[in-house]
Amino acid sequence: MNVRAQVTNLVPYKPGKPSDEVKKEFGLSEIVKLASNENPFGYSSKIDEWFRENGVNHAIYPDGYASNLRNSLARHYSLKPQQFILGNGSDEVIQIISRSLLEPGKKTVMPVPSFSQYKHNAIIEGAEVVEVPLIDGEHDLQSMAEAIDESTSIVWVCSPNNPTGTYINDAKLRSFFDKVPKDVLIVLDEAYYEYVTADDYYDAISLISEYPNLLVTRTFSKAYGLAGFRVGYGMASEELIQSIEPVRQPFNTNVLGQAAAGIALEDQSFISSCSKSNREGLEQYYQFCKEHGLSYFPSQGNFILIDFKQDGDLLFEQLMKKGFIVRSGQALGYPTALRITIGSKEQNEKIIKVLKEIL
Ligand SMILES: *Cc1c(COP(=O)(O)O)cnc(C)c1O
Repeated sequence: MNVRAQVTNLVPYKPGKPSDEVKKEFGLSEIVKLASNENPFGYSSKIDEWFRENGVNHAIYPDGYASNLRNSLARHYSLKPQQFILGNGSDEVIQIISRSLLEPGKKTVMPVPSFSQYKHNAIIEGAEVVEVPLIDGEHDLQSMAEAIDESTSIVWVCSPNNPTGTYINDAKLRSFFDKVPKDVLIVLDEAYYEYVTADDYYDAISLISEYPNLLVTRTFSKAYGLAGFRVGYGMASEELIQSIEPVRQPFNTNVLGQAAAGIALEDQSFISSCSKSNREGLEQYYQFCKEHGLSYFPSQGNFILIDFKQDGDLLFEQLMKKGFIVRSGQALGYPTALRITIGSKEQNEKIIKVLKEIL
């Protein structure tokens, strides 16, 4: 088959082992999964309540325009409904953007290490990937601006950045945006927005009206706890959104996901309580790192990257045998580190205890 050369050389995304498999393999009764930045508290109880009382018709296609969810988002952010693009997770929004703007001969600039899907999609589209290394876990915005040239179509910014948890402050972000040519799309990935507490964080919604070449992505998979439903979205000027809408599949978000996301959005007290617990959880890890002289990046997300100064894969294996699944830094560009999702207080205590034993 004449598969595109760039696809032949790509490796498919390698998901972590399912918890049930790990249980069986190591004879464990319980698994604590802290690998994919899911919400340890699940999701708003209002969602199950709603599903108990309201059925959805599985036999009919979803509303392809996701009108109810779109309108709820518009109200929530005081934007127009036409300023949103919904996706089967923000992963799909990244794919739609890449498909719309990238092709052979075009370049795309991105930080590294960062979220893997920017590069993955760019390679599929045959575009040239320009990776700009982080400095101390943070975007090197100066070098990223300098890397942009006439053939650049997209520049990716991830704040808070996965896997480092670092963020960009308002002043730095604006000064970078001012350097990006108006015909280069800036994608600002804010998958962890709801967890941010930094005082000098920017307001992405007002930046959208100031920068017509800015597209912001957010998701229901992380703080909203709906990873299994696959709903993410992009927000930008109406004109920008309309220019990429034709690439979106007609029924890309499903009936259940649309319903669940709409309800989740209404329960902001769930989000603030999760964000508060997350702050407290991060403190548990900071304390542990200080006690053991381990370096880490202060995080604005619901995960922490800790440098253990030993092989991340080996450490990962040791933890898995004890019933904890985390992400090895090997595949994330930090070979001697682990990325650990912040769990509940009890989960954090448990894994920290095991880590202390291993150390
Ligand atoms: C998890 C994540 C996403 C994708 O989430 P979806 O489940 O596809 O919405 C996007 N960007 C970053 C940085 C992430 O960590």
